[in-house]
Amino acid sequence: PEAITVQELANRMAEKGADLVKALFKMGMPVTMTQTIDQDTAELLVTEFGHNISRVSESDIDLAIDVSEDAPDSLRPRPPVVTIMGHVDHGKTSLLDALRGTDVVRGEAGGITQHIGAYQVTLKDKSRITFLDTPGHEAFTQMRARGANVTDIVVLVVAADDGLMPQTIEAIHHTKAAGVPMIVAINKVDKYEANPQRVRERLLEHEVVVEEMGGDVQNVEVSALKKTGLDDLIEKIQLQAELLELSANPDRPGEGTVIEAKLDKGRGPVATVLVNRGTLRVGDVFVIGAESGKVRALVDDKGRQIKEAGPAMPVEVLGISGVPSAGDPIQVVENEARAREVAEYRQSVLTQKRTTTAPASLESMFSALR
Ligand code: GDP
Ligand code: MG
Repeated sequence: PEAITVQELANRMAEKGADLVKALFKMGMPVTMTQTIDQDTAELLVTEFGHNISRVSESDIDLAIDVSEDAPDSLRPRPPVVTIMGHVDHGKTSLLDALRGTDVVRGEAGGITQHIGAYQVTLKDKSRITFLDTPGHEAFTQMRARGANVTDIVVLVVAADDGLMPQTIEAIHHTKAAGVPMIVAINKVDKYEANPQRVRERLLEHEVVVEEMGGDVQNVEVSALKKTGLDDLIEKIQLQAELLELSANPDRPGEGTVIEAKLDKGRGPVATVLVNRGTLRVGDVFVIGAESGKVRALVDDKGRQIKEAGPAMPVEVLGISGVPSAGDPIQVVENEARAREVAEYRQSVLTQKRTTTAPASLESMFSALR
């Protein structure tokens, strides 16, 4: 049987806890805010307060969340977001690690790197590149299917000794479907069997025409193992990013996308979020998918607690009511009541999708309370 504390129920109903305690007292149940009540009692209370019909609609969401376009003069340059794809064992992880090693800020943080699914490298010239550390093609397509196009540039890793393999070709298809520019990193060139030219030729068969073959796709020979070609790769990423003229308005309520989320034993629900536009700050009230919350802490990829995160910055968010899903949007809203309303509404939509029989009213309202 489901149980919920009076305080929690009050929070989710956007009512005062004291009012619920009073109502319960009248119903013959003298309980305090921190005590739990059962599902039946909770349902009674919900109807008592007139919440029996889902009060929130799509239009309320539009009211709660600022979806306005940014004026051109509010846009500022932002770092590119790069995803690394390629066939298994071609060196995606090794390359990500090697690139991470080029971060000039990493040393200052004492070298304690957190795995948060994404990280940002600061280069010598102070410019930054964000790498998504979720190289699975599945994650990429799943995010895209959810309308979350967070990647600006794909780096396709092809091992020079192995050549084009099934997942290489799959990655080419995904990248083309997403309309994202690609840079080919021909890896493992330190190996005796390496044949980079063969890779460039084979790419032609899949309509990836690199510069040496008369096309405009950039390619670079690297060795993640020997750490060669990394500067060249970074330069090419920067060049590609310049062409894209990436920008975002940092001066608005923060908005982002969940890269990954988990329930942490000590810290509760934690989501790694990539900020798309605006600035996310400690203390901000937000909705995140069908959950809501108030930012209790922001932790960067170096494990440091930070006060705010701007566009293209990956950051761990603490203070969420539950665990959201990858690809969920996070949006800063005006106040906690609004945040809960939107989360409740989304929960009820999710519940309605799951249950075909139950009517939308009380049933879904209570599901939203779980
Ligand atoms: P992933 O599956 O694409 O993430 O590939 P990994 O990064 O796990 O690398 C697979 C294997 O290739 C590991 O044994 C790496 O040490 C090796 N490897 C990766 N990059 C290079 C490279 O540049 N040169 C050589 N010789 N080996 C490499
Ligand atoms: Mg790997």
